[in-house]
This record gives sequence, C-alpha cells and structure tokens, in this order.
Amino acid sequence: MRSHRKYLWFETPNRRDYINITGEVRKVLKESGIREGLCLVNAMHITASVYINDDEQGLIRDYDEWLETLAPHEPISRYRHNRTGEDNGDAHHKRQIMGREVVVAVTDGKLDLGPWEQIFYGEFDGRRKKRVLVKIIGE
Ligand code: ZN
Repeated sequence: MRSHRKYLWFETPNRRDYINITGEVRKVLKESGIREGLCLVNAMHITASVYINDDEQGLIRDYDEWLETLAPHEPISRYRHNRTGEDNGDAHHKRQIMGREVVVAVTDGKLDLGPWEQIFYGEFDGRRKKRVLVKIIGE
C-alpha cells in the first residue's frame, strides 16, 4: 500500500469564507499516482471545516445565514469560551456543525464523487494562515 500526504494552506480575507477545494484535492491525487484507495481531507484547525455539498452561491449564503442563526458571532460575551480573551466562540460551534473531515473513494485514479458533490473548506475565523491535510492511501 502507498500513501501520499500534503497540506493545503489558506489565509482568507474575511472572518468567514467557503472555498471550493475540489480542484486542489484532485491535483494532490494526481501527483500521488494512486489509482484505487481512499482520500481523507480534514481541517487542521478547530474553527474551520471540510465538508461536501453543492457549489451553488445561494446555498452557500443560506449556510452562512443558518450558521449565524445557530451561533451568531456577536455578542461576543454570549460565549464562555471568549472569557479566555478570544472572540471565536461562534467559530468553534460552526466548525462542530459543518464537520472536521471528508473521506472520498478513489476509483480508477479519480475522486469518486456524486454528480453535484464538491469538497469545500469552510472558514469561520479567518484572516490568518490555516491548513487542511490531504492524505491518500491505496495502490
Ligand atoms: Zn477559540
């Protein structure tokens, strides 16, 4: 069995951003040379997510509004976590809802995704350097 590991780096201009990273994950798969196996993609930070869904701008804005309803950024005093001096209590909650990682099957050298499935990086406390791990195992 072979394995291939790589970081994707992000520094988003906004506190919250939703970035389609499918193309970058495909590039990592291509350089791995692996034809059959599994591809794990996970956020390495507890205020960011990796998830799979549709690349449709209305849906992405709906997600953002929904997440702000569930865990609004303000008032910052709402979160006990922010008593540590941080202001990202909301971002930890958003990450919990949107998830840490995805696993995609690799079949015949390709990401075996459903028809509308795209891999996203969800940033909830951006404007600083953060990374996503891609690890592919197989043959
Ligand atoms: Zn925090």
